[in-house]
Amino acid sequence: MADIIKLLPDHVANQIAAGEVVQRPASVVKELLENAIDAGACTIKLIIKDGGKILIQVVDDGMGMSATDARLSFERHATSKIQKAEDLFNLNTKGFRGEALASIAAIAHVEMQTKPESEELGTHLKIEGSKIIFQEASVTPKGTSMAVKNLFFNIPARRNFLKSNQVELRHITDEFHRVALAHPTIAFHFYNNGSELFNLPSDNYRKRIVNIFGSRTNQKLVPVEEETPIVVIKGFITKPEFAKKSRGEQFFFINNRFIKSPYLHHAVVAAFEGLIKSDSYPGYFLYLEVDPASIDINIHPTKTEIKFDDEHSLYAILRSTVKHSLGQFNVAPALDFEH
Ligand code: ADP
Ligand code: MG
Repeated sequence: MADIIKLLPDHVANQIAAGEVVQRPASVVKELLENAIDAGACTIKLIIKDGGKILIQVVDDGMGMSATDARLSFERHATSKIQKAEDLFNLNTKGFRGEALASIAAIAHVEMQTKPESEELGTHLKIEGSKIIFQEASVTPKGTSMAVKNLFFNIPARRNFLKSNQVELRHITDEFHRVALAHPTIAFHFYNNGSELFNLPSDNYRKRIVNIFGSRTNQKLVPVEEETPIVVIKGFITKPEFAKKSRGEQFFFINNRFIKSPYLHHAVVAAFEGLIKSDSYPGYFLYLEVDPASIDINIHPTKTEIKFDDEHSLYAILRSTVKHSLGQFNVAPALDFEH
């Protein structure tokens, strides 16, 4: 019989990959914010219009890109962050898959301006449905601006599936919180339809939390600190009397990356046993540092699920650390820590 297998053209492959990486505007926000952080930005601006359906723009003052890199960054598996498989076990960046920009450019209209500090002129580039339609040298400040318009313009089914602007904005805000909490020393500005939602100066962890969730949060926080050979834990839990019926202010960060972990959540809840009702949840902002070689973050495209080498020890340490902090909170004055 005749051969029937063909390699998919790049723009089709990119569109398929985009389905995994980009579920909704908030996914784009996450990817662009993480790229800005990986670029070493000190200040990051997020600009949204109509729940991200019309515009998602991230402006950073990071390292920028050369004209060639600007073009290459939209190719699939194009990344400056890893070079070989072993690098996966020693990641210091948010990104590494080299998929986000290729995916986003396959399903939206993207306009980029970028310039490394050392160059006189930067690059202005437009790409739509994986096709570069414009590239020119341009006068632009150091750093990168990435504007994503008309998300899912070529996938009507996906576009119709999007929720109201308000709901999409809530998802975007959740992503923004996660990134801003993980990087308190980076300043963030967040505008929606022209009005400023957040203006977060460079701060320590406690002040970043309070800036996001309001000044009344300050008195709710109990510091948590522990150092063991397998994990360093810092952060805060909220006092038991502030436990809520609804879930919400619960954050785990592993090596400054927000993650979801029902298992670790259970460890924290177990530490509150007897102090809160069984149908309510404690709030927490917990920052865990582990050896990058002891985790695998490559099990899911959005990288919010992580596999740990030694889950059981982590569980036990977390639980006893939180328990210890709870036992101390009304005797010790609230401590602060810088980073
Ligand atoms: P990844 O982040 O996994 O490497 P992306 O598709 O998100 O993949 O980005 C591709 C590449 O484009 C990055 O590796 C980086 O070199 C470059 N890049 C993307 N965004 C920025 C930015 N804001 N500033 C500087 N370089 C960037
Ligand atoms: Mg990336």
